[in-house]
Amino acid sequence: MIRNFYSIDYQVHSFRSHDGKASIAEQCSKAVELGLDEIGFTEHKDFDPFDPEVNYFEYDRYMQEIEEARSAWKGKLIIRAGVEIDYQIWFEDKIAEYLQNHSFDFVLGSVHYVNRKMIMTPEYNKTHNQVSAYQSYFLEVLHSVQSGLFDVLSHLEYANRRGIAAWGPYSPEPHRDVLTAIFQELISRDMAFEINTAGLHQNLGVMYPVEQTVQIYASLGGRKITIGSDAHHPDQLAWQFADAAQTALRCGISSLATYQNRICIMKPLKA
Ligand SMILES: [Zn+2]
Repeated sequence: MIRNFYSIDYQVHSFRSHDGKASIAEQCSKAVELGLDEIGFTEHKDFDPFDPEVNYFEYDRYMQEIEEARSAWKGKLIIRAGVEIDYQIWFEDKIAEYLQNHSFDFVLGSVHYVNRKMIMTPEYNKTHNQVSAYQSYFLEVLHSVQSGLFDVLSHLEYANRRGIAAWGPYSPEPHRDVLTAIFQELISRDMAFEINTAGLHQNLGVMYPVEQTVQIYASLGGRKITIGSDAHHPDQLAWQFADAAQTALRCGISSLATYQNRICIMKPLKA
């Protein structure tokens, strides 16, 4: 428990992701040191055949390391085996087939690419202005939610990682309609919504998403959140967790969604 909060970190990577910088055991050890109640590993699983890392993720090896960690930290830390799926509309069928054949505790749906281009790169931005750059990204996010494949919408407004440098300060206001559509779909599907603090350890100064966007979600009745740091290294684990929790509480959200075998278990955020 961190400062009287029930504390989860539900976006964590290890060497089982191509860009991980620590073992599952090292992340668990740090989680216990920090006083986390639950850690949710979310290794990257990609489907784009042109991606050189497409076959990096090894399911059996991952599950074996998770089981070893569960034995080692039994009674000290709840360890969940999740996955971060890179969503692109053109490989929805492949994702569905994969998830039918592989069990996880929870599945994150993440958008990093639109029309085969990484969002907000110069190549992507060539065909956009500020509003359309974000609109195209949000439409792909809407598709990801409509697909019904995921438990949690991951790092909404991740477009800001490069978008702020490319287009200047961000406000959700011009995008209120599409954000409302995303949240209505999310709520009707009983999916959870992640508050991701990676923007803070990436020195962007904002979370994914910004607090005004969490407010839009809450104003539509959304109450089901997870918190994730997107830690690829133990130093990033539970990064500014208390700030994310305070953001949720300010928006009237007072519980956390946790998952086992893709079944949601709600926990009070304030312990
Ligand atoms: Zn991601």
